[in-house]
Amino acid sequence: MKLTLEKITNNLSALFSVIFTSAAKQASIHNKLSRHIVALNKKTSSEEIINEVAVCLKDILDYRLFAFVVKKKDGVDVWLDPRMYKKSLEDIILKDFKIGQKDLNYLNQNFEPDELQEEFSMENLVYYELNEENCCSRLYMLPKKSISSFHNEVANLILQGCATALSKQIKMENLRDAAVIDPLTGCYNRREFENQINRHIATAARHKKQLSLFMFDLDYFKKVNDTHGHLGGDLVLKKISFLVKDNMRKEDILARYGGEEFVAILPETDKNKAMELADRLRSKIADIRIPHNGSTIRVTASFGVSELTPNADMNKIIQDADTMLYRAKVNGRNRVMPGLIKICSPKKTKLQFQNSSGGI
Ligand code: GH3
Ligand code: MG
Ligand code: MG
Repeated sequence: MKLTLEKITNNLSALFSVIFTSAAKQASIHNKLSRHIVALNKKTSSEEIINEVAVCLKDILDYRLFAFVVKKKDGVDVWLDPRMYKKSLEDIILKDFKIGQKDLNYLNQNFEPDELQEEFSMENLVYYELNEENCCSRLYMLPKKSISSFHNEVANLILQGCATALSKQIKMENLRDAAVIDPLTGCYNRREFENQINRHIATAARHKKQLSLFMFDLDYFKKVNDTHGHLGGDLVLKKISFLVKDNMRKEDILARYGGEEFVAILPETDKNKAMELADRLRSKIADIRIPHNGSTIRVTASFGVSELTPNADMNKIIQDADTMLYRAKVNGRNRVMPGLIKICSPKKTKLQFQNSSGGI
């Protein structure tokens, strides 16, 4: 009898200890979770939110976040665990979202080449999906242990917190975009260009760096509208701005200056390089064929290039590019002014500037 009582007491205390330990554990998880959710809501960029989610998943569930993908209007934003083999997950994301490589926009760029070789077993990879009104995203994770219903519940709470924070963030980004982005072409608008050029001029002057600018205007665009209609003209504006953006560096800024006129800021670029780029773009624009309503639209563009000179301000650098653009039009269109021309000598061929008046 005494033995049985002792056994029951032991079992009960073991049970209470399990109950209290698990209650204490749950309280601790609850506390951690609340702290992370509060932190999530204070973040001001998608990357900060994702970093916080990665820390939270690791801290509470010991899950490792491999990739976080947010679907946007024009492609997907991707955060990748920098220590892993980038290509393998990239392939999964491209397939899952039915997109091409150029639609991937990396939120984190800090990939060290020798850190990217970590292999993982695809079978262990799980993903959760978040669907808020304006935010469709997917988290690819690798859990350490098999997933229990408790894990699922906690993971869902974390992800819900993440979805709310991201949705708020995306709303703010959309508002910000609406104020600075031209809706037809997706380029910056003129007002934002003026903010950016002033900022870039100040930075270039402070760090004694070069800064160039080019403006381009589509040639005889009125005729494009007359022949192919306003929608045909709109399509051309879209295609040309995508083409130009695709062929510039990420740090370059392209803006729609007005109607069929665009302007680009090229930080840390000398005038020579800017002229080379402008000529490459001019040639690509002349080559592109844009199908529309059973016919093909072709256009050309004229470019004017300028650079930041000592003590120059925004008006001066814009005015210089505008003057050059005017000269490109007067000199026959589909050209860059000043332009690089080939000087052929018997010994070697070298490139020189053509000056603003058209001579060498
Ligand atoms: P140039 O070679 O001298 O630049 O000749 P152009 O015909 O391009 O110049 P012009 O200034 O005479 O005409 C510009 C045309 O661009 C007229 C205008 O209707 C058209 N345009 C401006 N903005 C838009 C737009 O958003 N969509 C469309 N489809 N057309 C536009
Ligand atoms: Mg024009
Ligand atoms: Mg014009």
